Amino acid sequence: MIPAAFDYIRANTVDEAFAHLQQHGAEARVLAGGQSLIPAMRFRLARPGVLVDINSLSDLSYLRAGDKVLAIGAIARDRDIERAPWIGDRRWSLIHDASRVVADPVVRQMGTVVGSLCHNDPAGDWTAVALASRAEVVVRGEAGTRRVKIDDFLVDSFTTAVAEGEMALAVEFPVPDDRTAGSYQKMERKVGDFATAAAAVQVSLNADRTIRAAGVALSAAGACAVRVDAAEQLLAGQKPSAELIRAASDAAWHRSAPQADLRGTVEYKKHLAGVLVARGLRQALARLGVEV
Ligand SMILES: Cc1cc2nc3c(=O)[nH]c(=O)nc-3n(C[C@H](O)[C@H](O)[C@H](O)COP(=O)(O)OP(=O)(O)OC[C@H]3O[C@@H](n4cnc5c(N)ncnc54)[C@H](O)[C@@H]3O)c2cc1C
Repeated sequence: MIPAAFDYIRANTVDEAFAHLQQHGAEARVLAGGQSLIPAMRFRLARPGVLVDINSLSDLSYLRAGDKVLAIGAIARDRDIERAPWIGDRRWSLIHDASRVVADPVVRQMGTVVGSLCHNDPAGDWTAVALASRAEVVVRGEAGTRRVKIDDFLVDSFTTAVAEGEMALAVEFPVPDDRTAGSYQKMERKVGDFATAAAAVQVSLNADRTIRAAGVALSAAGACAVRVDAAEQLLAGQKPSAELIRAASDAAWHRSAPQADLRGTVEYKKHLAGVLVARGLRQALARLGVEV
């Protein structure tokens, strides 16, 4: 199908993009990679009156791995992450795993992490990764720039804390310490498909190999990605064991509240949520040299 008529503005600076968004309010949408927005417009599920294209804002194409945060700018592409020189470091294993299974290589040429977070598809991959990593999104609003914790950012399906007239500038992932590793486990029907179920897991160990902290999140398990608080709490402070992993897996099963669709029944997807969390925990621990 052909999209409804719209005006197109190519912004040359962040200030210019922001000014257009402020001027057009609810009528305007940011165009990043266009991998979700353009198909939605073609199916007339979205009918923005004005598109503000941010693809010329090369100052937002950065991936900055600093001492405290890894900052990913609003037009850094999925493919840039997959090829980043630091991505092989096990501290980034969760992001590395996800960067290889989001959509397909063609979509990853254009799709952005920030765009994916702003889109907030219930079965999106980056939302679960951001939850397990305790990321924050940098949002430019009328009152200036603010940081929004990912738990507050993901409001509901296709709805985020980015208000009318605002834009997201970047997402920031805290730099994990040396005793941290993660894993992203996605069950998809075929390469390029959205998740039937997916689990993002991050584990940090103490020197004595007990678990200092854990991040556990699910995708395709509700209106948007969800944190499995119960699993995170029961893992913290414990020695890794098969029983502990089973308990975390049960917590994921309880937390998962998926919709039945062509990809599977509610029971099947809940079962997968538990299995994928267990697999993710085992893989993250194995990456830290702990076999369970
Ligand atoms: C065939 C196909 C398969 C796919 N499979 C998967 C998959 O398996 N997993 C997955 O997670 N995704 C998948 N996607 C979605 C893809 O990853 C998208 O690229 C991503 O969801 C959106 O990123 P984008 O940069 O293309 O955003 P766009 O499509 O440009 O924008 C998406 C939405 O976010 C808003 N937005 C974007 N950037 C900003 C910003 N900086 N500030 C404020 N609002 C913003 C837009 O206005 C729009 O509403 C798939 C897409 C396709 C076409």
